[in-house]
Amino acid sequence: MHEFGLMQSVLDNVEKSAREAGALKVTEIRLVIGEMREVVADSMDFAFEALSPNTLSESATLSITMIRARSRCSQCNHEFEHDRLRRSCPNCDSLATELLAGKEMYIDAIEVEMPE
Ligand SMILES: [Zn+2]
Repeated sequence: MHEFGLMQSVLDNVEKSAREAGALKVTEIRLVIGEMREVVADSMDFAFEALSPNTLSESATLSITMIRARSRCSQCNHEFEHDRLRRSCPNCDSLATELLAGKEMYIDAIEVEMPE
């Protein structure tokens, strides 16, 4: 399950940013993940529960926004959303398509509690 590795690097990044900002704790972590990343949101939640104790993020809320995969057909220029496995053009059946979105994976925002 590669979600553990992903979540570990998310938590490392969040921890570093929060400490540099002098925050007391992290209250929310917002992630954006493209569906082509083959990341299961439930597994990210599970990894978060397992890895966050004893970090500044241990009481944070994790929110994950999944981005639908979207491609453009190189033959007819049609743009379409699709699932992870089906990337052929629904308009002309071409397999020559270019992925426009769906490989995102980033921390959109974190919210922290600062000292009074
Ligand atoms: Zn097409």
